[in-house]
Amino acid sequence: MPLRGKLLQQELLARYTSFRIGGPADFFFIPEDERDLIEGLAHCKKEGIRWFVLGNGSNILVSDDGIRGMVISLSSPFFRKIVFEGNTLTVGAGAKTGTVLHEAVERSFGGIEFLGAVPGTMGGVFFMNAGTYLGEIADAVLEVRFLDTDLVSRVLPKASLNFQYRKSIFQKNPWVIVEGKLALVPMVKNEAKSKVKAILDRRKKTQPLGIPSAGSAFQNPPGHSSWQLVEAAGLRGFSIGDAAVSDAHTNFVINKGNAKASEVFQLMRLIQEKVFQKTGILLEPEVRLVGEWQEDFLRDKK
Ligand SMILES: Cc1cc2nc3c(=O)[nH]c(=O)nc-3n(C[C@H](O)[C@H](O)[C@H](O)COP(=O)(O)OP(=O)(O)OC[C@H]3O[C@@H](n4cnc5c(N)ncnc54)[C@H](O)[C@@H]3O)c2cc1C
Repeated sequence: MPLRGKLLQQELLARYTSFRIGGPADFFFIPEDERDLIEGLAHCKKEGIRWFVLGNGSNILVSDDGIRGMVISLSSPFFRKIVFEGNTLTVGAGAKTGTVLHEAVERSFGGIEFLGAVPGTMGGVFFMNAGTYLGEIADAVLEVRFLDTDLVSRVLPKASLNFQYRKSIFQKNPWVIVEGKLALVPMVKNEAKSKVKAILDRRKKTQPLGIPSAGSAFQNPPGHSSWQLVEAAGLRGFSIGDAAVSDAHTNFVINKGNAKASEVFQLMRLIQEKVFQKTGILLEPEVRLVGEWQEDFLRDKK
């Protein structure tokens, strides 16, 4: 059956990432609905074409050479659903965090206020177990539905999703998240609104807003803050080409204008090396490398 969604070729991915970096995708597919998604994936499997599921592109570094194979974007209305049933909220993987939070607060629900500081789609949030000092999505998840490698729709409850700090089962399995169910907390609307405002105000004070980045470059090692380790290594403001350690938040790597993916990569490797030399701590990247890379970040062999 022919694909019904939008299929583009040689689509430049810099347009779709918060870093504003990334070369072209061979194919860029926006399925119209779940059946169309399955058709597209089945075609890839049959032809041996690799695929990558893109969310809002807020946590990825796409190589300058782009991505060979098919990038799938769940940005059509079908995948952006937001449905309330009592305290339960069902969200499509393509729903934007800001919209989900707004709709919840307007109905006097809380429990996901931290999403105010997390740009992205719900698919990316489940995949990353995204969160802030206010909590993480694992706190609210009841279950997630996805297509497995046989393109069969499956549902796993929270207990089986292996959520840990910025980790989920999805990072170890090439599944496509379709939707998730969240348990919300009834709250006085103004209380929920002021919690969201507080997190947004804090973000304005502590982060380089409006400058392309992918948020925190590195996860916080147990008992440490990565920004302090980067600062102590003397790297505030350090740059390679147009990729720089932010002055406002030293765990943010920013694109000052025309940074290449390779420059961001080199800078992050250098940060890993300098921090390791000084402290013996190997920073684990939070930003995910996507596309064609000859090298990887330094990884803990454990
Ligand atoms: C300014 C800024 C501030 C940030 N602050 C925070 C913060 O406070 N806390 C935090 O946790 N993060 C933060 N981030 C990072 C980012 O917002 C989160 O990681 C978010 O969850 C990424 O969602 P996304 O839709 O953009 O995912 P993407 O970056 O598009 O993708 C991330 C990964 O998820 C996978 N993925 C996405 N959707 C699906 C799907 N449907 N099925 C399978 N896999 C999928 C992708 O393949 C990729 O591997 C920040 C980023 C920015 C730019």
